[in-house]
Amino acid sequence: MRFDVLTIFPQMIASYLNEGVLGRAVERGTVEARLVNIRDFASGAHKNTDDRPYGGGEGMVMKAGPIYRALESVERVGPRSMVILLTPKGERFDQSLARELATRDQLILICGRYEGVDERIRRTCIDMEVSVGDYVLSGGELAALVVMDAVGRLVPGVLGDEKSSQRESFEQGLLDYPQYTRPRVFRGLEVPSVLLSGDHEKIRLWRRTESLRRTLERRPDLLQRARLTPEDQAILSRLKEES
Ligand code: SAM
Repeated sequence: MRFDVLTIFPQMIASYLNEGVLGRAVERGTVEARLVNIRDFASGAHKNTDDRPYGGGEGMVMKAGPIYRALESVERVGPRSMVILLTPKGERFDQSLARELATRDQLILICGRYEGVDERIRRTCIDMEVSVGDYVLSGGELAALVVMDAVGRLVPGVLGDEKSSQRESFEQGLLDYPQYTRPRVFRGLEVPSVLLSGDHEKIRLWRRTESLRRTLERRPDLLQRARLTPEDQAILSRLKEES
């Protein structure tokens, strides 16, 4: 997977890419990340990347020219390359979109600032518009990092253990079960005894039950689309009776 991020603040992205799961993936070369400073493609003495909006009104708009030229400078690594504009008006990002995007060879992510990007970029250069949620950020950099992180960890070889990404919240349409580590007692609360039993079948059943319980309590909407086995259905009926 290769990410190319077009931004006027490449350092914001660079510092995140130095650490953690994504940092290790970049270091090992499992994920490639290139940062393109849109300002390098601005013309004029002041290298302006924004201008006042036609029609008047508040704020500034990112000019089409520098973004277009920055985009032209990016090498396309194959037919499965995709250009994404980060915008609150885009398709809502979730785990299933992350999975879909992880099958691509290259994601070119455009980060807006100010009042957003000149509409003609959207109309001529963009394959998809993506929003990370129903709120407005000051810029697309955090949104691009959200996409890169969620997609990057699904790329084979990025996580040490592939099973852990398959088990996590949303992957099977459910929220993850609660996790515990040492010490055995913390502020009077004991680790559930089943987790200390060494009985793998009992542990599996407890985890599945807790995953279903959490989803039922917090995100019942997810259950409509979840892949549920007959065992899950039986657990759910019992949980509903209990409550
Ligand atoms: N005026 C725009 C609107 O209301 O749709 C918001 C512009 S916002 C202040 C500046 C930039 O932040 C956007 O161009 C976009 O790149 C990014 N951004 C803000 N919120 C976002 C979100 N929820 N998802 C993705 N990108 C977002």
